[in-house]
Amino acid sequence: LVVLTNVNKHFGNLHVLRDINLTISRGEVVVVIGPSGGGKSTLCRTINRLETVDGGTVTFDGRPLPAEGRALAMLRAEVGMVFQSFNLFAHKTILENVTLGPTKVRGMAKAKARALGMELLDRVGIGAQAAKYPAQLSGGQQQRVAIARALAMNPKMILFDEPTSALDPEMVQEVLDVMIGLAADGMTMMVVTHEMGFARRAADRVVFMAEGSIVEESTPQEFFTSARTDRARDFLSKIL
Ligand code: ATP
Ligand code: MG
Repeated sequence: LVVLTNVNKHFGNLHVLRDINLTISRGEVVVVIGPSGGGKSTLCRTINRLETVDGGTVTFDGRPLPAEGRALAMLRAEVGMVFQSFNLFAHKTILENVTLGPTKVRGMAKAKARALGMELLDRVGIGAQAAKYPAQLSGGQQQRVAIARALAMNPKMILFDEPTSALDPEMVQEVLDVMIGLAADGMTMMVVTHEMGFARRAADRVVFMAEGSIVEESTPQEFFTSARTDRARDFLSKIL
């Protein structure tokens, strides 16, 4: 579904992505881990073109990423993104946050979007909160709204960038459970996270990134029991 070939990216003098080669197949769950500043977020953002690359190519569904206009808007709809900060619209209700994309971008009729929105809010376990505003919800609930909002666009893939890092510990699992459900339903996902329990349970593949490079790529089983590089072993010893 996604193919990155020799992708390079600089921010000024800083070489943040170095010769990245990565393929993500349909239905695959790829967990990206690695030290701070290693380029994980930048890698995520190149897939929905929130960042452009300055070398190499990125294709989605067999085509190079569109640069602008309607095609780019459609790409962003097809590649959902869930961030560490939930980025909900504070002055819209939970349901409105979820229905906005389908009505504005997909041109869906309001009634249909509301029905879809309710269905998705039920799916992430917060249908009862539909009429509330984001500030009235816990962090875990807000993040589940953000996931429902991404799902409302009927995405082919969802990028998760540290979706539980801003949450109080007791709310982490409720969000991970929703993500585990999505993975089980066959959603293609790229997940930047330090939640190793999630990686063990849901990942098809673990990508370890450091200093802009993919250092290791393996199954969770291999990675956690017998990481091949000192860099990865050193990182694991610090977080496990
Ligand atoms: P973290 O675990 O802290 O989220 P990360 O692996 O996601 O880190 P990135 O956010 O991708 O790392 O950042 C990689 C490097 O690029 C860092 O050195 C960061 O400071 C730099 N960087 C990221 N975004 C920009 C930007 N818009 N302009 C300049 N430098 C940036
Ligand atoms: Mg990051």
